[in-house]
Amino acid sequence: MHNFLLLLSVLIFSLQVKANRYDDIIHQMLLIKKHSPSFVNIVSIGKNDQDQNILALKIEFPIQKNKVDQLVVAAHHGNESLSVPVSLEFAGQVLQIFKNTEHPFHSSFKNKRFHIIPALNISGINNNRREEYDIEGISHDPNRDYPDACNKTKKNFKLKSTSLLTRYIYNNNIVSAATVHGYIGTLTFPWGMFTKNTHTHDHQTYLNISQFAVKANSYQIGTHADQIYPAEGSFEDYMYLEFGIWTVLLEIDHNPNISKDAHSLIRYFYASPNTRSKQHQHTANCKSIRKNYTPMSRP
Ligand SMILES: [Zn+2]
Repeated sequence: MHNFLLLLSVLIFSLQVKANRYDDIIHQMLLIKKHSPSFVNIVSIGKNDQDQNILALKIEFPIQKNKVDQLVVAAHHGNESLSVPVSLEFAGQVLQIFKNTEHPFHSSFKNKRFHIIPALNISGINNNRREEYDIEGISHDPNRDYPDACNKTKKNFKLKSTSLLTRYIYNNNIVSAATVHGYIGTLTFPWGMFTKNTHTHDHQTYLNISQFAVKANSYQIGTHADQIYPAEGSFEDYMYLEFGIWTVLLEIDHNPNISKDAHSLIRYFYASPNTRSKQHQHTANCKSIRKNYTPMSRP
């Protein structure tokens, strides 16, 4: 009954606002649920600064107990809109594995529950903007809005979306996560902060999982800081730093193969450990000088 009411409110919500990209995304989420109703639920992680529900697909094998929770979040940056179809295609591929008892990942995936947020930054997606507006209409970069071990004085969670996502991850005991951006063609892992040692204590595990994942799309792997550039306050560092969640950043290519990119996430979640890291602290020294730091102009 609860799910029915939520779906109804989602439908009413879609009719009330003029057509926009997030409406299309909701429509596609509803289609995914319609085709696989026994595996899929649509939940809200809460209302953002514009009072809009940020929706997630929750996909799991019925009846099975003791599941390991995994999360995919796309469109922290609203101008990286191709991250959205990667997350929806990922949902479709998970469902295919659930329905195919012959699939080599079937028995492993039956024990996993997937939480997929196709677009965190709703105003950004609707306006093709990297940043997101807070409740006062001030623009912020959502992927610089999390606490950072190398800048403890910065102000965090200026946006409701980032604090809601963090609370959702905490409440649902997420073990592994992937965040989807564009458009570089890499799969990277912590650290990405301004640190003198970019390797975590789990560096070898991260390398092993990532090597297995990119057999799908042949992307470059490494730490965020080494493969892309250092950044402070990112989701991908914070979730590992704070909770020990295995977290990767998928930067899809300029001309992405959506199916292969989604499949790389399938392989990532198949290979990632079933428990959180217990050695996720940042113990190296931080870099004090941040040269060429222009986050707004970068992916
Ligand atoms: Zn981005």
